[in-house]
Amino acid sequence: MESHATSPEASESSDPATPAKRISICAWCGTPINRTASQLKHEVISEDASGDRGQTTETHGICTLCIADLGVYPIESLMDYDRESFDDLPFGIVEVDAQGRVLTYNKWEEELADRSRSQTLGRNFFSEVAPCTGVAEFEGRFRELVAAGVPAREQLDFLFRFPGGDTLVSVALTWAPDLGRGFVLVQKVGE
Ligand SMILES: [Zn+2]
Repeated sequence: MESHATSPEASESSDPATPAKRISICAWCGTPINRTASQLKHEVISEDASGDRGQTTETHGICTLCIADLGVYPIESLMDYDRESFDDLPFGIVEVDAQGRVLTYNKWEEELADRSRSQTLGRNFFSEVAPCTGVAEFEGRFRELVAAGVPAREQLDFLFRFPGGDTLVSVALTWAPDLGRGFVLVQKVGE
């Protein structure tokens, strides 16, 4: 259907007077997340029915199903989440800028990687913090998200290579171009 060359700067009319409607998508599985259970049916239906994707912006959280086994509440938007509370979450969270520099590094990730926050903040995640991720299937996919310039997410399984041994993890990558920040979320597979 698309016959023209890639043009990331879509020049569709965007009316600044109309605030963009925000939809929350699960970083891990891509399912829409709803604010409250009572709003669930209405929100999904109205967003689908409107068909007005131009006024919709996307943010990333963790849905009920993906979080069920972890024993915590679903998260509508990680970007809105209190950074200190990241330490209470039972999976790894690394917040990075467009270059991959680490802005936030939570406690779970510190323990998984056996690497303290002070050794990590401000360093490049892909080249200095976790060099095993500096490959096409990991860093490459993050770079593609950044280059695309739209809010987006990806999920991948990856083998982290630590000095103490290899660990298979499920990774979610997110990117929020308006904020210039994204997340690398990590959980162990089979736990
Ligand atoms: Zn999910």
